[in-house]
Amino acid sequence: MKVDVMIIGGGPAGLSAGLYAARGMLDTVIIENGGMGGQIATTDAVENYPGATPDVTGPQLAQRMREQCLQFGVTFQTEAFKGFEKKGQTIAVTTDHGVHETKTLIIATGAQPRKLGCKGEDEHRGMGVSYCATCDANFFRNRHVAVVGGGDTAIEEALYLTKFASKVTVIHRRDQLRATRILADRAKSNAKLDIVWDSVVEEVAGDGIVQSVWLKNVKTGKITEMPVDGVFMFVGQAPQTQQVANQLTVDSRGYLVTDANMHTNIDGVFAAGDVREKSLRQAVTAAGDGAIAGVQAIRYIENMIEA
Ligand code: NAP
Repeated sequence: MKVDVMIIGGGPAGLSAGLYAARGMLDTVIIENGGMGGQIATTDAVENYPGATPDVTGPQLAQRMREQCLQFGVTFQTEAFKGFEKKGQTIAVTTDHGVHETKTLIIATGAQPRKLGCKGEDEHRGMGVSYCATCDANFFRNRHVAVVGGGDTAIEEALYLTKFASKVTVIHRRDQLRATRILADRAKSNAKLDIVWDSVVEEVAGDGIVQSVWLKNVKTGKITEMPVDGVFMFVGQAPQTQQVANQLTVDSRGYLVTDANMHTNIDGVFAAGDVREKSLRQAVTAAGDGAIAGVQAIRYIENMIEA
């Protein structure tokens, strides 16, 4: 059976696209690959989504968005997206469950944390090396942890970790944080958090579990060992475009290129959220993209019927 809209990804972009498409009376399916809710579901506090209040966590907000979709008739399917092929007015979407047909496709696969790429990182993944504070903070109660990176994610997650760890040391390669002022100020005034400036992690060391990081000061070249019980890596994001990058136009960093109405270079295929080339990657802009993509899918199908 051919559906009207198939959305790949169940984060704020996909959920918002689903809500708009289903409210537009379209037969709408969201394909998720395991983790539900996208990156917002791994964030403890969401302060900058309009209307979000401190008593609602990221996972709860994602759950509410999902429930709203279900209320309007969106179908959720847990499958791994493999790719798509456009044949006339039909888009054939391949997943690990088979091939599904849809009239329109919305790619909302988001972005994932990048690996740092230093020695010892892979060997200690899950053994002290983590990419998600909300998931793993509890393992580091009253321990000393390092956070690598100086952006919004690193500082937000470092602040969250101070609720669990005895000490959080942020390691940043420059002498100035990239994070927004409000987060940077909070970090600087938090007694449990300190910052090692101008330094990169050369190696994560340990005997099965993390015991220390070897740091290099990029200005002096000096190498030091810092004992830590865990290392959280927050050095940016990589867009999830592996399955579509050979068909859809991407920018120099691999993000999908769309016009202001979320149209990709293939008719009937839209992109929304963090996977898309844009200047501000936030839950609220992802939701905005999703709304536009959902409405554009409605318009596209209306024109299809007329054609
Ligand atoms: P980001 O803004 O790209 O920051 C990445 C950080 O990692 C930068 O400080 C960067 O250093 C550092 N870094 C990158 N590669 C490195 C390497 N090889 N070695 C050492 N350090 C390295 O990524 P992000 O923090 O994940 O944020 C992604 C987007 O989501 C941003 O647009 C951000 O504003 C947004 N976001 C917003 C919120 C919020 O509003 N509450 C929360 C989370 C994320 P440099 O500074 O030297 O480049």
